[in-house]
Amino acid sequence: MARDNQRKCECGMPERWVVDPHFPVEFDREMNEYHLVHKGARAVMRYCFWCGGRLPASKRGAFFTTPKKSEMAEVRSLLKGAKSHEDVVGVLGPPDKTVDLGGSSRKPNGEILCRWRQQLLYSTRWKTLVLHVPVVIDGRFEYSIHGHYLGKNKPRKRSPVSRRAAKSRRRI
Ligand SMILES: [Zn+2]
Repeated sequence: MARDNQRKCECGMPERWVVDPHFPVEFDREMNEYHLVHKGARAVMRYCFWCGGRLPASKRGAFFTTPKKSEMAEVRSLLKGAKSHEDVVGVLGPPDKTVDLGGSSRKPNGEILCRWRQQLLYSTRWKTLVLHVPVVIDGRFEYSIHGHYLGKNKPRKRSPVSRRAAKSRRRI
């Protein structure tokens, strides 16, 4: 990879990957992002893995509200002792929505911290944030805070701003 990481990708390979149905790369026009897509998982590509150049700047920030510190603090204080999604429902009541959106949270070395099959979304209680509460099937419980999606399409999975883990581990 090139040392100068500000150099833009001009090799033309990402455009080719997008149109090649055998290649797991997609381009999200709205967000102006290249994505690596595999078996339902999706990751934003910041650099071209052929030439090492920078890919175009994401417009993601323009599509989400920025959660206010005061609202984030309120979530943290309310969910201080929460160690499972049941605890969260106990504190906040039923969610606005339950979505079948599985996923996992991992350490940088790939070790899985927790996995979930569904998420409870609290989207109306706070003005600037949406609280995502995973229904954890394996590992420790943690929730995440996201901005509200401002665009026309449905909210995307990846806009985490803050992730907070409960101190204790939960196993099944
Ligand atoms: Zn390139």
